[in-house]
Amino acid sequence: MKNHPIKLTSIFLVSTMLFMNCASNDIAEVVEEEEVNESEVITGELHAAFAAFDTEETDIYLINGGADVTIETTGLPNHETFYWGSNHELYRAESGSFAGTPSTINPNGTYTDMRGEARTYDDSFTVATNPTLANNTTSTSMGLIGIAVSGAAIYNDQEGSGSLDEAAATLDWTGGHIGPDVYHYHLEPHAITNDDEDLVGILKDGFFIYGRKCNSTGGYPTDLDSSGGHSSTTQHTTSSEYHYHIINEMYSTTSAGDVGYILFAGPYKGSL
Ligand SMILES: [Zn+2]
Ligand SMILES: [Zn+2]
Repeated sequence: MKNHPIKLTSIFLVSTMLFMNCASNDIAEVVEEEEVNESEVITGELHAAFAAFDTEETDIYLINGGADVTIETTGLPNHETFYWGSNHELYRAESGSFAGTPSTINPNGTYTDMRGEARTYDDSFTVATNPTLANNTTSTSMGLIGIAVSGAAIYNDQEGSGSLDEAAATLDWTGGHIGPDVYHYHLEPHAITNDDEDLVGILKDGFFIYGRKCNSTGGYPTDLDSSGGHSSTTQHTTSSEYHYHIINEMYSTTSAGDVGYILFAGPYKGSL
């Protein structure tokens, strides 16, 4: 991706790229580059978990002196799905009904919305580099609530104006589909995690969301709050920190007949 909304020196860009390519265990260095011609100094480091994000589909960088991190995505999933359409190399034929879902992903990242307006799939949000739990929870809303490591959007458990139930038959093998807008996941995305502890993505409150199991114990966590969150170590941090899991409660079966688990229903526990 390109066209950062802020100005960065070439020195900082090189520093960041090297940094993101490091193995997670090596991310101990501090990015502290003082530029010559422009004023912003970035101090701090990206969380090691960001190394799991697809570098083709996402662009992740520190801003505001390192206090915040911006996550940008093309909105294009890096894996197979029915929704790429049969002419695309990542097309995956499925036997489900997919009734009423003629839409396919446009590899150019553009689409026409329901009102006929030209739109793009790309999206971004900025969160605190070190997010904290808020005093009050915040309900999730329609549309993008997080960005997955694959580049695809994370949506909540609602569809349009109603329940996800009616749309469940349109979900592909990895719990995703395309509505009138961007391709997005509602269920445990099997392209990323399937009954394991893998990192799924980051939500708009800055906390990461992992699969149904937790690296801290290797099993299903038993101390999750109502949002699926708890504090423990993970494969991406040796200190205890708050993070979400996909809650291990079966939701439905997908079009392909797979068992589905809601990805994230909320509410957010962090600040937005
Ligand atoms: Zn949907
Ligand atoms: Zn955990």
